[in-house]
Amino acid sequence: NKRLLLRYRDVESITLDGKKVEINANAGGIEDIEQILKFGPDGIGLYRTEFLYMAEDKLPTEEEQFRVYKTVLEKMDGKPVIIRTLDIGGDKNLPALNIEAEVNPFLGYRAIRLCLDRIDIFKTQLRALLRASAYGNLKVMFPMITNIHELRKAKDILEECKAELKNEGLKFDENLEVGIMIEVPSAALISDILAKEADFFSIGTNDLMQYTLAVDRMNQKVSYLYDFFDPAVLRLIKMTIDNAHKMRKHVGMCGEMAGYLPLIPVLLGMGLDEFSMNPSSIISVRRLIADLKYEDCKLLADNVLQMTSSDEIKNYISSIEIPVF
Ligand code: PEP
Ligand code: MG
Repeated sequence: NKRLLLRYRDVESITLDGKKVEINANAGGIEDIEQILKFGPDGIGLYRTEFLYMAEDKLPTEEEQFRVYKTVLEKMDGKPVIIRTLDIGGDKNLPALNIEAEVNPFLGYRAIRLCLDRIDIFKTQLRALLRASAYGNLKVMFPMITNIHELRKAKDILEECKAELKNEGLKFDENLEVGIMIEVPSAALISDILAKEADFFSIGTNDLMQYTLAVDRMNQKVSYLYDFFDPAVLRLIKMTIDNAHKMRKHVGMCGEMAGYLPLIPVLLGMGLDEFSMNPSSIISVRRLIADLKYEDCKLLADNVLQMTSSDEIKNYISSIEIPVF
């Protein structure tokens, strides 16, 4: 709807009582940017880089990656762009890598685990990202962090790359922010520890739900368990937000839940700072937030967090008069 688009694109998202949140878009490649700009988000909350690697049967070079990241940053014209390092494995295979088939690929060799094993591949990407950071507002994010060692190792390798670039006289953003995805239950459970060493969090509900509820996100037979209203997942989200805020760190969400209208008031009430979603959801989410009161949402979230089952939560939320429902 043209009128709504004009009203809600490129505007701040702010509740009736003045609470501001960021509304960002998820991107899977450079070809998504045009569509994203049409909806005028505050930035990109998740740029998935794996498709860049999956496109061909050889790995993208530093130069090829640098050009892609630089173009994305320039097109976003100073708005923040969170680029996630390679998250391959699980459901996404990489022709160039020839990864052995695994019995439990979602519990196996993927994402940051692969990158910390194949430091050559990781460094190529980090160097490209660092070089691109000179051309816009880039933040880097590591996927699938499970413990503090992984975060420390990944940051050490990033520092190595910075030192290399300095020696080579190549410029990059010295204050580049480095965040992590919270998408493994262990990371949510130690989010107080991780918040001390990460600049920001982004909650990946797609995987956080899969791992918390022990339900394969691709398996239709058990999809009834894959439930946005599950109290265990909502508790982990709340815990993560509180732990980030104790360390004054920003916490966003880039899983599908972030664009799911019925839960927006609850997530807002829990204190989430940023929602990153499919660009086509941006206008309806902005419109909803403009009609909400943060103080009401806090009470709503408190009530939800006391409840015992997903049915109870679902019924409660649908009984409340919130526009859009
Ligand atoms: C997630 O797990 O919620 C997420 C955003 O990452 P992906 O869907 O790419 O695994
Ligand atoms: Mg994920």
